[in-house]
Amino acid sequence: MTRTAVYPGSFDPITRGHEDLVRRGLVFVDRVVVAVTTAGGKAPLFTLEERVALARTTLGEDPRIEVRPFDGLLVEFCDSVGATMILRGLRYVSDFEYEYQMALMNRKLAATIETIFLVPAFDLTFLSASLVREVSRFGGDVSTLVHPSVAKALAKKFSGA
Ligand code: ADP
Repeated sequence: MTRTAVYPGSFDPITRGHEDLVRRGLVFVDRVVVAVTTAGGKAPLFTLEERVALARTTLGEDPRIEVRPFDGLLVEFCDSVGATMILRGLRYVSDFEYEYQMALMNRKLAATIETIFLVPAFDLTFLSASLVREVSRFGGDVSTLVHPSVAKALAKKFSGA
């Protein structure tokens, strides 16, 4: 039996922190489906297509990893890809309240799907996509925080090219 987890997020853009979480997930599941959301109410910096493409490039050619766009109810998406687990990251106490609420709601909607929280590598705990966007907006160096293709895409976005 293939154990599949869905890792949902806006990935605007994907960072080394997200990547770390996918690799940690693969220690105990056979397949991770990265579900790139349309980003709810927030207006994302990158379009859905750009976020999917950057995630695919960052995560590379690994048959155990799939990147898919997703809109709608997460538990239904899990069902459609045969996933029994949802992966989420916990960095700070401030993540906790929202993550806990969401995990309970998803359990209410689908009792058999478990949410698994993972903690990233120590030096990636401070990292968030929003911080990367901010640093990049003002010309700061994000090369150690994201894949080179993401750094390039950010530079292009903010140069107005
Ligand atoms: P969302 O808008 O759904 O929070 P994000 O792309 O910001 O989407 O994050 C997706 C998931 O990845 C969340 O569970 C978030 O906590 C986790 N995450 C983001 N950055 C990191 C990081 N540096 N280390 C661990 N988890 C992270």
